[in-house]
Amino acid sequence: MKLSIEQQPTQEGAYPQGEGNIEKNSDFEITGDFQRFNACNDIFARAQWDPRIHTAKAMNWFYSMLGLKVKYKSTDGYTQKDYALRNAGWVVANLMMERSAHLNRHDGFLDDIRGYMKEDGNKVPVASEEEISLQIKKAGKLFGADIVGITKIDLRWHYTHKFDAKTLSEKPNELSEELTNCIVIGTSMEYDVVQTYPSALAGTAPALGYSRDVFILQSLSQFIRNMGYKAVSSLNDSAQAIPYAIQAGLAEYGRNGLAITKDYGPRVRFGKIFTNLPLLHDVPQKFGVKEFCEICSKCADACPAKAIPFGMPTDQTHNQSNIKGIKKWTVDGEKCFSIWANQGTECGICVRVCPYNKSNDTWKDRAYFRFFRWLASTRGKRLALWLDDFLGFGVRKAPHLWWKEKEIKY
Ligand code: SF4
Ligand code: SF4
Repeated sequence: MKLSIEQQPTQEGAYPQGEGNIEKNSDFEITGDFQRFNACNDIFARAQWDPRIHTAKAMNWFYSMLGLKVKYKSTDGYTQKDYALRNAGWVVANLMMERSAHLNRHDGFLDDIRGYMKEDGNKVPVASEEEISLQIKKAGKLFGADIVGITKIDLRWHYTHKFDAKTLSEKPNELSEELTNCIVIGTSMEYDVVQTYPSALAGTAPALGYSRDVFILQSLSQFIRNMGYKAVSSLNDSAQAIPYAIQAGLAEYGRNGLAITKDYGPRVRFGKIFTNLPLLHDVPQKFGVKEFCEICSKCADACPAKAIPFGMPTDQTHNQSNIKGIKKWTVDGEKCFSIWANQGTECGICVRVCPYNKSNDTWKDRAYFRFFRWLASTRGKRLALWLDDFLGFGVRKAPHLWWKEKEIKY
């Protein structure tokens, strides 16, 4: 049935506590009224069916990713050249999404990414879960992932329903019971492009992240199928990436509602592969993000939408676009998306200003990042925060300067 304000997405009742390891060594606190999330409540789905979000500006934001109805400006960072680069970054992800349009699917965004070839009829024997896990991580990095982690399937993070963009209704989100493990891959977004947030130029970073993820996911999942096991690739569809990234030991959770990774901070895009390949599970890693976020509010201070909370984590939600029953910092997606729709491209300020967003291009960058992480995890965290301001981190780079730089880093 078509969704509307009267015909709201289905909400499940309380969901039993899973057996995932997120509680064991992370700061996610699942409360008794936890409910799995319905993807129809995702702000990008609501922008299509919910008249409170579905505005001409919101739709133009979608169209602009496909190079349609783009409103070029003379403002630095929003020119035709800036959008030209951003939309070129989207090409591979868009191709993957559009190839299934005749099946009423949006692979990678609303539906899992259909595999290229089926699994081989013959299974490569797995003598050691430890060894095959290492080989999967090696293959993931070979295909281009910056970080790879492994955890077990935890249905709490899987959507109760998917969104059908053609009929503006919900549809089942099914996962074969055979699939027991989840491989999480992360690709970093270029530091110097992220520094130009907010701008259309900066939008190239996530666009490229999605396109790279599609390539890596499809290659790695095909590697698993070629070994005779099942593997389903998932980008933004099917399940929430952030709790899976935390469970797979790749990140901690930050005030800005993002997964903060050790080596790339918040500038990482994640993808997942659900598989029945026997694998060894990683455990959540802590390196002091929550404690640092407690004394830092740079993202909340800088957010133009006032969408990021101050204070300590709570289980308060802002609207139906938030998952219920987790004590954490929760971002108001409605407020955030209104900024994106108004400016015609992503905002991303909360990524740029985060002190964990540091370059690791050179050995000096990496050495300072290591020093910052260490200091931020000690009683000197206020000094780390002060140093961040003193040294000028997080300041926006004018997009035209990025275009003018002679050095090519990539
Ligand atoms: S993307 Fe911008 S508007 Fe959205 S939460 Fe981050 S800083 Fe706020
Ligand atoms: S800007 Fe500060 S408070 Fe926000 S996520 Fe980063 S470290 Fe945490």
